Amino acid sequence: MHIAIIGAGVSGLLSALELVEHGCTVSIFDQAQAGQAASWAGGGILSPMYPWRYAEAVNTLAQYGKTEYQRYNAKISAQTGIDFEIHDTGMLIFDEEDFAVGQAYKTRFQEPMQHCELLEGAQLHQVNARLSSQLQRAMYFPELSNIRNPKLLQSLIAYLTQHPRVNFYTEHQIIRFNLQQDRVNSIYDQDGTEFFADQFVIATGAWSAHWSTQLNLDIPVEPVQGQILLFKTPADWLPTMCMNQVMYLIPRQDGHVLCGSSVRHCGFDTQTDPVTQSHILKHCLAMVPELAQFPIVKRWAGLRPGSPDGVPYIGQMPEHRNLWANFGHYRNGLCMGPASAQLLRQLMLKHDPIVDATAYSTTRLQFHKTTAPSL
Ligand SMILES: Cc1cc2nc3c(=O)[nH]c(=O)nc-3n(C[C@H](O)[C@H](O)[C@H](O)COP(=O)(O)OP(=O)(O)OC[C@H]3O[C@@H](n4cnc5c(N)ncnc54)[C@H](O)[C@@H]3O)c2cc1C
Repeated sequence: MHIAIIGAGVSGLLSALELVEHGCTVSIFDQAQAGQAASWAGGGILSPMYPWRYAEAVNTLAQYGKTEYQRYNAKISAQTGIDFEIHDTGMLIFDEEDFAVGQAYKTRFQEPMQHCELLEGAQLHQVNARLSSQLQRAMYFPELSNIRNPKLLQSLIAYLTQHPRVNFYTEHQIIRFNLQQDRVNSIYDQDGTEFFADQFVIATGAWSAHWSTQLNLDIPVEPVQGQILLFKTPADWLPTMCMNQVMYLIPRQDGHVLCGSSVRHCGFDTQTDPVTQSHILKHCLAMVPELAQFPIVKRWAGLRPGSPDGVPYIGQMPEHRNLWANFGHYRNGLCMGPASAQLLRQLMLKHDPIVDATAYSTTRLQFHKTTAPSL
């Protein structure tokens, strides 16, 4: 079976990996270079930031993130030579108003990744000696990790590029489908070149509403900008991830520390701006003031694929039996990536699904109302 995947972010690339590993031939299209959009820009925390604030459907997929990335890393890094650095740092959350609900969540779900304990005073500063002395209480999640997402993408691209059943088409913007009754026959790029396949997957992240007009559907996915700034400290300088008021610090193994992230609705703008950057900086330095002595080496912004409740659309698109969805992961597309791709592959190839697919169904998409012509 030949499958065309539109979009080469984490959603499209992991879908491609799943499908080729199960015998399919895959063509992947991206309007720019592969793996350069939200999936590159993200922080790589392998859990929703405050899981209890998210829909159960988000946590259900996210719980597979860490173990599945460990499995993929062992398999594909042997071939690509690129380790995508699953960094087991644990996470400290300082939002006092979340302490009770966070503890209750742990008890309710008994999920190893969400195991947490309350730390105070000296105990807290033993776990992370870089913290501001103002911080005296935190919830500690020792099992939480982060992934170096740019390296994940590099590794996936390297693995798929050398695969005999994969074709990459970068700088190919897919403009429209050639629809015939209940099927997609082919797709056209910006130059009018036509590409055929048996099945088609939409994995176009923040750009997914583009398909609304042609499919006569309301696709409620919109770009939500997030900015990050990057410090370079010595290796292992910051021992844990830290989170307060939805701002976080993410240490990488080599001493880079990501500080993020903002939430702005400003269309497809990927410029950083000084006001947002200083807001992020202020919150991050309040957690770890000593960071200020190190250089900021990079600043960037990415576009999250914002969807209602952050629950992605995964499954067959309405009215077209060879058109599939894997988009709308909002703030958690990296941690939900492996299970989302597996679920898509299982639905497409009629394998047993990893989770109940109902919550992700595209039946949540509404058809446009056709307006009656005025008489
Ligand atoms: C600042 C920030 C921090 C984040 N932190 C985390 C985190 O810690 N943990 C986590 O799990 N998630 C995080 N996220 C969210 C995560 O990055 C996204 O949910 C995820 O990357 C979405 O992946 P995607 O493949 O769907 O989209 P993208 O990576 O945006 O990929 C979509 C691709 O489709 C291509 N495309 C679009 N339209 C077309 C077309 N018509 N033709 C051809 N190609 C097309 C685009 O060029 C793009 O390459 C963060 C995001 C941001 C911005």
